[in-house]
Amino acid sequence: MAIINNPATDPNKILPMKYLWARKHYKDGVANNWTPEEISMQKDVEQWKSSSHISPHERRLILWNLGFFSTAESLTANNIVLAVYRNVTNPECRQYLLRQAYEEAVHTDTFIYCCDTLGLDPEEIYNMYKTIPSIKKKDDYVVELTKSIFDPTFTTEGTENIRKFIHDLIGYYVIMEGIFFYAGFAMMLALKRQNKMVGIGEQFEYIMRDESLHLAFGCDLINTIKNENPEVWDAAFQEDIVGLIRKSVELEKEYSFDACPQGLLGINAWQFCDYVEHIADRRLERIGLPKLFNKENPFPWMSVSTDLSKEKNFFETRVTEYQTAGNLQWD
Ligand code: FE
Ligand code: MN
Repeated sequence: MAIINNPATDPNKILPMKYLWARKHYKDGVANNWTPEEISMQKDVEQWKSSSHISPHERRLILWNLGFFSTAESLTANNIVLAVYRNVTNPECRQYLLRQAYEEAVHTDTFIYCCDTLGLDPEEIYNMYKTIPSIKKKDDYVVELTKSIFDPTFTTEGTENIRKFIHDLIGYYVIMEGIFFYAGFAMMLALKRQNKMVGIGEQFEYIMRDESLHLAFGCDLINTIKNENPEVWDAAFQEDIVGLIRKSVELEKEYSFDACPQGLLGINAWQFCDYVEHIADRRLERIGLPKLFNKENPFPWMSVSTDLSKEKNFFETRVTEYQTAGNLQWD
């Protein structure tokens, strides 16, 4: 019995289940259902139109984050549907992947909604992944990192291919969703804490909550493949992975500085870098690798919502806000 390369797996036969964590992530995802239109953008529109509310450097970081996320969400969705799904035949994992794909569609929709309501130029926003070097470098890095799995002739058979598969999964889940999203989350939530662009901020909170589940599923998948194929996880491969994560942290720090060179009220640009290093350590630990940076979390308020180990807490402390769509309540 194995999660990949299992000739006994029938993708159409979901019961009985073996990987109950996949089922749990699916259920948690469904319980978190939301859509962007549920969140009012009225105050955001007023603030966006008035130069006294949003300073030029705040405007820059908002545009940079909309520019990065607007295309990154599609990139992730394509990865899931075109590459990961094909190689993961286990039915309970596929059920989760279908749910994740839907959530990526909701996230894509969020940025359509933001562009529409704020009256942004879609040509500008949706080209930023090509025109803004610090965004382009992140996207190029992920595309390059996940090449093998996109090859239509790729299979997960044999030690070398299993290694490639884990490598690419780390590229998608740990680096893209687990590191490259987080400086942006911190910036947008920091703005929200200052009562600026609160509608977008709330949408980012919801996206972040979804992403923390995507990351949890990805790490469970990676760890299961590792545990079932221990020969692939040797010292040399671990060192490669650590190198990839180190490089991604550099790119994310570069992006932070570019999006927010002067920091925000009460936060300097270096604190975003410390935050990126802090979360990178958490990702490393989650896949069984030693910490690299040992930075304290400069934004303890972020951990309430992003900390994987505190995911439960998060749900428990925000129950009124975070229930299924039928009975949402907003403070
Ligand atoms: Fe997403
Ligand atoms: Mn995602």
